[in-house]
Amino acid sequence: MPQIINIENDSPRLIGVHMIVGDGLCSNIYVVGNKRATIIDTGVGNRFNPVWPQLEQLGIGVLNVENVVLTHAHHDHAMGVFLILDRAKPRVYAHEADSRYIASSLGNSLVKVKEGDVIETEFWPLEVIWTPGHTEGGMCLYARDQRILFSGDTAFPDGYFGRFDGESGSLDDLIGSLRKLVKLRVEIMLPGHGVPVIQGAEENLKLALRNAELYD
Ligand SMILES: [Zn+2]
Repeated sequence: MPQIINIENDSPRLIGVHMIVGDGLCSNIYVVGNKRATIIDTGVGNRFNPVWPQLEQLGIGVLNVENVVLTHAHHDHAMGVFLILDRAKPRVYAHEADSRYIASSLGNSLVKVKEGDVIETEFWPLEVIWTPGHTEGGMCLYARDQRILFSGDTAFPDGYFGRFDGESGSLDDLIGSLRKLVKLRVEIMLPGHGVPVIQGAEENLKLALRNAELYD
C-alpha cells in the first residue's frame, strides 16, 4: 500500500504538507492542506495506488478536495486524477501545452495554466513555473515566500534531472528550465519521484543544471 510520509516534521515550512509515496511506477503525490486540499500530482491510479484511502487518513473527504495540479501529463503522474474525479469535483490545473493529452477526459474540470499564473491553496499561493524539457507542458509549482518548489519530473535530488527523450522532450528546453529554477533561490524541493530535499535545494538544482549542460 502507498505510504504517507510525514514531511511536516522536517521543516516548519512544511506544516500541513504531506507526501504519499506510491507503489511501483507511480509518482509521489503531495497534499497541501486538508480543509481545502490541493493535490499535486496524482500517481498512476491503478488498483495498487487508489489515492482515496490515503486522503481519508489525512482527514480529507470528498468535499475537501479543492484543487488538483498536474505537473505534466505522463500517466504515472496524471491517471490518479480520474480516481479523484470519480467522487470529488476539484479544479484540475495543467499547463496548456500538456493539457491537450488529457483535455477530452477532464471536461469542465480542466483549468489550463501558463507561466506566471497563480494557484491559491489553503496556505500559500503556488506560482506556475513553466519548465519544458521533460515534456513540452511540464511545470513546477513554487511557493515563493516559503521557498518550496514542487519540481515534478524536471529536477530530482542529487543533481539528477528528468528524461528528455520522450515525445515532447528536449534537452535544450530542459537546460533552459533548470536555469530558470536555479534563479528562484529554492530551499525545499519536493520532486515527482525520490525523496524531498529539505535544505539548500538551490545547490541541488545548480548541480542538475551543470550535469545537463555537460550531457552532450
Ligand atoms: Zn514524467
